[in-house]
Amino acid sequence: MTDRPPGKIFVIPFLEMDVAFACDLHCPNCTHYSNCGLKGYVPFALGSEWLRTWARRLIPKTFSLLGGEPTLNPDLLSYLDLIAELWPGSERALISNGLGLHRHPGLFERLAATKTRLEVSFHSFKDPDYVQRFNEALMAIETARQRLGFDFVYRPNETTFYRTYRGQGAGMRPYEDKEPHASWTECYNKLCCTIHEGRLWKCPPLAFLGKVVDRFGLRAVPEWQPYLAYRPLAPDVSDEVLHAFFRHEEILECAMCPARLEFSENGLVTRIEAAK
Ligand code: SF4
Ligand code: SF4
Repeated sequence: MTDRPPGKIFVIPFLEMDVAFACDLHCPNCTHYSNCGLKGYVPFALGSEWLRTWARRLIPKTFSLLGGEPTLNPDLLSYLDLIAELWPGSERALISNGLGLHRHPGLFERLAATKTRLEVSFHSFKDPDYVQRFNEALMAIETARQRLGFDFVYRPNETTFYRTYRGQGAGMRPYEDKEPHASWTECYNKLCCTIHEGRLWKCPPLAFLGKVVDRFGLRAVPEWQPYLAYRPLAPDVSDEVLHAFFRHEEILECAMCPARLEFSENGLVTRIEAAK
């Protein structure tokens, strides 16, 4: 995908990409399914090709690198440089759980140099070990921020998790409230279109569904078939198709999500070992 795709460039509100699928935390109801033991990350040689190609079609007002836990990607600093090169006029953010920032010496300096905002999510008061590690990470961030001046946002996410599927593991099933407009109206992911496998997906729950059904052997489960049939966009789609993608609110696949949200306080499970 090195040739320039035909077509217009669209300015859109928001775009994101998971650069790691694994996570060292295990938050129930993670909308990227990273609590389900997903593995791996996107090597820069591959991910940079996807991003360069889509930068010829899309200019997001805000672009976020996330996961999973993006610090589990050894190429993270190269990604920061690349998104600053591709979208210099956009707001750019790195979204992390904060616990693995030390894995990348020079990360804070690179955030400052590329004017990338660091956003760190807090997930639970229930685990004292986690709270201590999080507070230590916050102190390191604040010390660096005072020295270097990068933007920082603290995201208290401990009460914002809602279930996007029923059951767990091999028992995972879509909601199927059969009210896709109501599901989309309630959805917290409605602006989170994402680049995955070189294509553009409506949201993380659809983008990473294939990974979680493979993890739990759910490929042939009848209830998941309508949602596994979702087709993301290739970067060479026509202007009309791309325009329709951003114009549409709900799609039929939104029926897999709840029409009435069920919130839970997020009792995370820490996994100290790297989850690569
Ligand atoms: S920190 Fe929690 S919510 Fe964030 S990716 Fe990891 S498991 Fe998901
Ligand atoms: S399928 Fe629709 S309702 Fe569900 S997360 Fe995606 S955009 Fe939201």
